[in-house]
Amino acid sequence: MNIHEYQGKEILRKYGVTVPNGKVAFTVEEAVEAAKELGTEVCVVKAQIHAGGRGKAGGVKVAKNLDEVRTYASEILGKTLVTHQTGPEGKEVKRLLIEEGCDIKKEYYVGLVLDRSTSRVVLMGSEEGGTEIEEVAANTPEKIFKEEIDPVLGLMPFQARRLAFNINIPKELINQAVKFMTGLYNAYIDKDCSIAEINPLVVTGDGKVMALDAKLNFDSNALYRQKDVLEYRDLEEEDPKEIEASKYDLSYIALDGNIGCMVNGAGLAMATMDIVKHYGGEPANFLDVGGGATAEKVTEAFKIILSDPHVKGIFVNIFGGIMKCDVIAEGVVEAAKQVGLTIPLVVRLEGTNVDLGKKILSESGLDITAAESMADGAQKIVSLVK
Ligand code: ADP
Ligand code: MG
Repeated sequence: MNIHEYQGKEILRKYGVTVPNGKVAFTVEEAVEAAKELGTEVCVVKAQIHAGGRGKAGGVKVAKNLDEVRTYASEILGKTLVTHQTGPEGKEVKRLLIEEGCDIKKEYYVGLVLDRSTSRVVLMGSEEGGTEIEEVAANTPEKIFKEEIDPVLGLMPFQARRLAFNINIPKELINQAVKFMTGLYNAYIDKDCSIAEINPLVVTGDGKVMALDAKLNFDSNALYRQKDVLEYRDLEEEDPKEIEASKYDLSYIALDGNIGCMVNGAGLAMATMDIVKHYGGEPANFLDVGGGATAEKVTEAFKIILSDPHVKGIFVNIFGGIMKCDVIAEGVVEAAKQVGLTIPLVVRLEGTNVDLGKKILSESGLDITAAESMADGAQKIVSLVK
């Protein structure tokens, strides 16, 4: 789960990470009020969306007086920001962070992620802050430094110091930087983060080490024990199809393609996406209906796939084990009747009750293309949507 920058900063502040003073605003009036309350000479008006790259897209503006705050706030609120992380359709700005302007001397990058190959949290840092860290990693990987953290010991002070030296934090500020990184690490562990990225961390003219941006992601599997984090969830930032799917306990992730996939089992779902791509198609989603799905669940899954206007065809690929083929067939028929199926549907069934499943489909009167194998099904749906 993702949260907004201002929410991330609220969390980090509690862990002793220095962040600029700021307030969230939902309207232009609130933005001006917030700026008045801050009372600083310079304010920054920042779009709050669940995506980075806002600065380049015009979503971060420095205002030198209240009139400018008003102008920028009305410009940015309601605007659809297109950044390299939003996709071409962009994201509408519904909240702003009004923050005190910082006198930036230098920008750095600091981040914590889980390295899956070593099963350890890694602290990463670079003196190339402010820019996209992916570019630094691609062009000048020697400018990224890493500290692997032992889960029993936690982040050791010497590691934080070594990283701070490596990325050339000024000597007199090393202790502040260590406190910063320690706070960031404690927040990461306590709150079950999957990513905690500060880009940029800045050193200011008056000698402070601060987080100017904050990107915190959380492990969804841990949200049951992170009630306060869950309160930060902003459903307006999430794909409505994914929210609907989570109500029915379906694993659904929207993608950019046009072939809807309904599959049982995460492994088969991945393989189905691979084979669709192999034959030149683009999957519109990842969907695992799970092992013990009911006909109702299948119906809902089907409706969610069809609610995506990009979907031009559906490929149902089911291996009936615990899940029986006739249950899937009933769900498909029911959903197709409820929503009115107007696009090609290819079904490949195999496993428990396969004959019964095939019978239900063929007697349904629906225009269904039967497939004999995964490869056959993938080829058929790809040629049907072309
Ligand atoms: P994004 O990563 O989405 O572009 P950031 O929060 O990193 O958004 O802001 C982009 C840039 O704007 C920063 O690299 C920094 O130079 C500047 N900036 C952001 N917040 C402030 C602030 N409070 N004071 C001064 N400059 C800021
Ligand atoms: Mg940033």
